[in-house]
Amino acid sequence: MARPNPQYAFSLTLLTLVLSSTTTLTATHEQQNDNPITRFQRYLQINTAHPTPDYTSAISYLISQANSIGGILHKTLEFSPGKPLLLLTWPGSDSSLPSILLNSHLDSVPAEPSKWLHPPFSATRTSDGDIFARGAQDDKCIAMQYLEAIRNLRSNGFVPVRSVHISLVPDEEIGGFGGAAKFVDSEEFEKLNVGFALDEGQASPGDEFRVFYSDRIPWNLKIKAIGRPGHGSTLYDGSAMESLMKSVEIVSRFRESQFEVVKAGKALNSEVVSVNPVYLKAGVATQDGFVMNVQPSEAEAGFDLRLTPTTDPEEMKRKIATEWAPSVRNMSYETLECLDVCVFSRERNGSLFNTSDLRFYRTQYTSNTTVGKDTREEKMLCWQRMWEGNNELVSMKWGRERKSEV
Ligand SMILES: [Zn+2]
Repeated sequence: MARPNPQYAFSLTLLTLVLSSTTTLTATHEQQNDNPITRFQRYLQINTAHPTPDYTSAISYLISQANSIGGILHKTLEFSPGKPLLLLTWPGSDSSLPSILLNSHLDSVPAEPSKWLHPPFSATRTSDGDIFARGAQDDKCIAMQYLEAIRNLRSNGFVPVRSVHISLVPDEEIGGFGGAAKFVDSEEFEKLNVGFALDEGQASPGDEFRVFYSDRIPWNLKIKAIGRPGHGSTLYDGSAMESLMKSVEIVSRFRESQFEVVKAGKALNSEVVSVNPVYLKAGVATQDGFVMNVQPSEAEAGFDLRLTPTTDPEEMKRKIATEWAPSVRNMSYETLECLDVCVFSRERNGSLFNTSDLRFYRTQYTSNTTVGKDTREEKMLCWQRMWEGNNELVSMKWGRERKSEV
């Protein structure tokens, strides 16, 4: 065997060193440019704010993320023209079991750039780690947390027993009628056999995680009274105003009874039925006010009513029909029941949760949005948790820590 030329050996070593350090540098560079924070920032840089949300770019970005994780199926559904919905699926080992659906909306409310410390779609990250972007909290961080959690679980070899779906829906901020509402009525949704679903929740002002397993259901309630019109000087029974005012009193007593439970510390605000009057409409209008000597034939009041998950909607309607707007007093009512919040709540009692199995999984994001004229900042740290029971991923929830600075 020939003795190696020392000079050649040195050059080879040097070349190897250079090559390996280049490889290390490239890897570090890639890691710096492709990590949970930068992936989050790239999603934030896609302007999905109303009135012209760029759903196409957001969806193609999310598909690229799903592809980079691997093992995730994707399907784009379009129930309303120009309003695509992305459905990602991480198949479970037992497809006969009801699946888990994680929901996040693609759109966000508009931003007024002049009132922002940093352009709202720049996703600027300041030296303290805060990221400024419209939609950071509400709710792009959630979609990214789902994806990052799956990325981590998959890299650790975890295979869920139940299939996990992520729905990325359009138009949530404008009612969800062209997105989630049509989705849950579709055959595609039926086929998912969803047993448990999770959507965005509220920020937590403290260090603790707040776990919500349900949401209150908002109803817009209008009650209307009809009565004999008459001169303002006459006293008689059953005028529209009299009937409506009686009802407002009854509703107020109900409101008080619910509020007392909260004041006594026996329930949280979110655990009672809330009802708040939001408008009153009556009277005969003139150019500069109202006719003051006529009792009107119609009067109406509007209420923001919120039902707890355990409230029986039929029982509530019975109460409205018999006590709040009884037909015996010539009253009628109308409810507009918000679909958007409750559509996914098929199993409302949260029975899949077993808090003793709580295991903090990962991730942390610092997101930041500026709200209002006073550029009030809300700093948030987003986490998520995974609940694993019997080696089966049964649920997932995120939480946030918030510091407010005004
Ligand atoms: Zn939201």
